[in-house]
Amino acid sequence: MKISIKDLSMVYKNGNRALSDVNLVINSGMYGLLGPNGAGKTTLMRILVTLMKPSTGIVKVGDLDLMKDRRAIRSMLGYLPQDFTLFAKLRTWEFLDYVASFTELSNKRQRGTAVDEMLEKVGLFDVRDRMANKLSGGMKRRLGIAQALIGNPKIVIVDEPTTGLDPEERIRFRNLLADMSTKDIVIILSTHIVGDISSTCHDMALLNEGKVVFNQSPDALVEMARGHVWAIDAIDSEVAVIQEKYPVISTVPTANGMEVQVVADRLKDYAGRSIEPNLEHAYVYFMEYKIGRHVDDEVLAG
Ligand code: ADP
Repeated sequence: MKISIKDLSMVYKNGNRALSDVNLVINSGMYGLLGPNGAGKTTLMRILVTLMKPSTGIVKVGDLDLMKDRRAIRSMLGYLPQDFTLFAKLRTWEFLDYVASFTELSNKRQRGTAVDEMLEKVGLFDVRDRMANKLSGGMKRRLGIAQALIGNPKIVIVDEPTTGLDPEERIRFRNLLADMSTKDIVIILSTHIVGDISSTCHDMALLNEGKVVFNQSPDALVEMARGHVWAIDAIDSEVAVIQEKYPVISTVPTANGMEVQVVADRLKDYAGRSIEPNLEHAYVYFMEYKIGRHVDDEVLAG
């Protein structure tokens, strides 16, 4: 399975330009779509799930054309929207059974088995008789992913799945998606949370103001930040000054003051230890020094 997006643009009726000439090839496995709020992620997801037509551009899903073969593509899709809510008064298993009835699982018995298996997979089998709207936040989100995955979709699109989840549920959710990821399905995970992407996605795109500004593996993004992440030992009064000069990733109290982790093209005025970058460092480095407000400083500094 492969999705090819060519010269895709979207301008809303009020003139808001949400996407500009987006070109991406998304292969099977887990794909991360990262970007700050307003970057255009939801717009792109809504176009891919055929809820909205783009202003211009071509999207191919395998051999199918997103504009012409909408029905066929819909039957291959699973979608967990950002604002997934359970409005129907149904038990957990009933809700999943209802969603499954719109998929290839038209046979009742076959569907029953698939529903039970899915409830087991997402850890909701024990609460299958509970009213779905009475589940905890994390459980609702897991039911959300279950309804996106039931009926063997070839493309699964998940929009901001971990917002509002506590750290434990967040990790559980991520692992669940990673387990589901197989050779023949595409899972697109759209998020503004860097930690959602890190270990699970083989490839990613970074969107900013409607444009693709980076499109390689998360490891390649991390490599770009190598040599640009520093730990500075500072006394408390220096922290605010450092914060003004450099994007600060973390401050940790030490015996003599603070260890401040910063990203910087070059570290001036402070002695710091160069440290191993992670994806969060790399994201901040890229956003600030490749496209953000620190670019001009560096150009001026020569
Ligand atoms: P993200 O999901 O990355 O936060 P969105 O796709 O929601 O980004 O938004 C991208 C841009 O499009 C933003 O500037 C947003 O204000 C605008 N936008 C989103 N939805 C609409 C809409 N229905 N009408 C007009 N502008 C919109």
